[in-house]
Amino acid sequence: MLYENFEPGVIAPTRSDSPVIWFAFQAGQLMMFDDGQGASVPQVVEFSELNVDYGSTYFLGLYYGQPVYAVHIPDDVTLPEPFFLKDLRGLMMEFDETVFLIAGRALQIVQWDVDHQFCSRCGTETVFHGTDRAKECPSCSYTQYPRISPCVIGLITRGPEVLLARSASFPVGMFSTLAGFVEPGETLEQAFAREVREEVGVSIKNIDYKSSQPWPFPHSLMVGFQAEFAGGDIQVDGVEIQEADWFLIDQLPLVPPTGSIARHLIDQYADQYADQLRR
Ligand SMILES: [Zn+2]
Repeated sequence: MLYENFEPGVIAPTRSDSPVIWFAFQAGQLMMFDDGQGASVPQVVEFSELNVDYGSTYFLGLYYGQPVYAVHIPDDVTLPEPFFLKDLRGLMMEFDETVFLIAGRALQIVQWDVDHQFCSRCGTETVFHGTDRAKECPSCSYTQYPRISPCVIGLITRGPEVLLARSASFPVGMFSTLAGFVEPGETLEQAFAREVREEVGVSIKNIDYKSSQPWPFPHSLMVGFQAEFAGGDIQVDGVEIQEADWFLIDQLPLVPPTGSIARHLIDQYADQYADQLRR
């Protein structure tokens, strides 16, 4: 994943009269408007210029040297013309990769603050930490950091074939890689092997890390692997996974779109396998 031309930060620089970039979220959706060339996020000096009621603002960093802020718009605010809300998931293909990552960061920070208004230990109202991205309890000093949930995802290979599965929530006909959340005390590799065993009943070996992708819906970090089949017959759990099968890498069913880590892992193996054949 690229993260070019973005320098993250917590402490806002001194404000100037140059416009800054605003990623404003209401109920998990991004506030945009049409600038004549497509949907865009506002760039103004002060968010108040937009005549939209808003809550807290959060400095995120610099994109090409321009300050970027996240903003929370409370649920009961009605957006005036020309603004509208967009689900960030649908913007993955439209946004530049770095801009999508910054927007995802904005969404996670806003949602984290909304969800951590009070200390989870003693119930006192929390305040922002002076220098870190954290919320502190002024009463018991408990500190709450943004929550990130690691989720393993991976492609299982058997020579020219890959194991793909479909869950009930997928669009009709779509198959993808297996995935699941990491449990306390597990390594990422153990978590992936366990998920595979639980969901399709096979064992795997040679588990290799490939790449990762933040997935801010609501706070996952997808950690991508490739592994080789080691043994067992496919037996789906029938709950999370409805159907699973081996597919030839050059005769795949409908798979997730470009931009997703699942697709990246599949495409990567297709390239790797084609390279092997050429040797
Ligand atoms: Zn407390």
